[in-house]
Amino acid sequence: MNFLEETIIKQGMVKEGNVLKVDSFLNHQMDIALFELMGAEWKKRFADKKITKILTIEASGIGIACIAAQNFGVPVVFAKKSKSINLEGEMYTAEVESFTHKKINTIIVAKKFLSPDDHVLIIDDFLANGCALQGLIGIVQSAGATVEGIGIAVEKGFQAGGQIIRNMGYQLESLAIVDSMNAETGEVFFREQ
Ligand code: 5GP
Repeated sequence: MNFLEETIIKQGMVKEGNVLKVDSFLNHQMDIALFELMGAEWKKRFADKKITKILTIEASGIGIACIAAQNFGVPVVFAKKSKSINLEGEMYTAEVESFTHKKINTIIVAKKFLSPDDHVLIIDDFLANGCALQGLIGIVQSAGATVEGIGIAVEKGFQAGGQIIRNMGYQLESLAIVDSMNAETGEVFFREQ
């Protein structure tokens, strides 16, 4: 079992509706020592890729993306979920259905932060149905930039997202893949990697 799987077993909570709650180390309180291990692991897995930028989505992706970025020595851009008065100029947008909040968000990245020269590593906390990732991939494509790979902390392997993204041909590196979980017993079972 790897470091993230061990943390999920110790601190994760299985909720009804196929939701894994990880707010003690990832989604609310953040375990930075754990984030450093995650960042180093993604650096190893994408060692042959020339990354110029990390792209994530607010809010839970930002912390892990920032620590990962220290390993790659590149800036982080995060897609915003609402149009703030500080957003100026032309923007790339995509529609994303939120798994946890069950609503459609328009996600936004200012055009000046992604260019056709960029080689992008997308980082996010969870992969469920793949809507968030497809939105982020769409934004990179709109910019004419290249998706070099995708790093996910927790993939829920029993939902469709992982297969959809791998079938699109992307290198998808999930640090923990949950094959099944049980809200009654609290058990979580991982895929051998
Ligand atoms: P997707 O777009 O792949 O369906 O869902 C991914 C997004 O939904 C992630 O960015 C994450 O914020 C949220 N999410 C999906 N499943 C879970 C879950 O089981 N637990 C938590 N904490 N977040 C989840």
